[in-house]
Amino acid sequence: MIVILLGAPGSGKGTQSQRLIKRYGYQYLATGDIFRAEIAQKTELGQKAESYVKSGKLVPDGLVLEMVTGRIQPGGKYLLDGFPRTVDQAHGLSDILRRGGAEVDLVLSLTLPTPEAIRRMTSRRICSKCGEVYNVISRRPKVEGVCDKCGAALIQREDDSTATAERRLMVFELQTHPLVAYYKGEQILREIDASADPDRVEAALAAEIDALKAR
Ligand code: AMP
Repeated sequence: MIVILLGAPGSGKGTQSQRLIKRYGYQYLATGDIFRAEIAQKTELGQKAESYVKSGKLVPDGLVLEMVTGRIQPGGKYLLDGFPRTVDQAHGLSDILRRGGAEVDLVLSLTLPTPEAIRRMTSRRICSKCGEVYNVISRRPKVEGVCDKCGAALIQREDDSTATAERRLMVFELQTHPLVAYYKGEQILREIDASADPDRVEAALAAEIDALKAR
């Protein structure tokens, strides 16, 4: 079972992914998380990706597909977050899956008005150690600037600054949004309103996954 969570930056893909993994036991593949970890560890891949990630541009498709191949095992149950992000990546994903006799089963597209996406991104804070996600408006830590889970300092992602957040949304519109039409054409896309509160968004996403499983 392969489920893709699609949506603009700030639409809550990370938050909802954590909930869905707990609920369904999927393996989680978040290309943004992998790039951030590789950059922090200064690996060769991290060094190649760094300038793109920090400036809010997409990492080139070839590099992304190289990274993903081998991390998706045929027959696995995966929740994909932030991948694919271009139509070429979607073709690459189909090729990887086809080799293992699999295909994408469901694409859940989180929709959110642009001003709200910018507001959510610029108010997001993450733990510098464990990666837990907070929000200075809607999900404040118990002690300001400190992670509830591990006690490390909270930081703002470099690419969550207002200018870079705006660029990432533009990149989403130009390069990633065409995937909505692409997967609609395949008749596996479901749109979910991401402006509702997180419990309701989770319920709507789960209803689509349950409907798929019942088929
Ligand atoms: P995210 O955490 O998903 O918002 O991703 C953060 C950044 O990582 C993006 O702005 C891109 O620079 C890079 N990135 C993550 N996933 C991809 C992808 N599938 N294709 C290209 N770039 C990506």
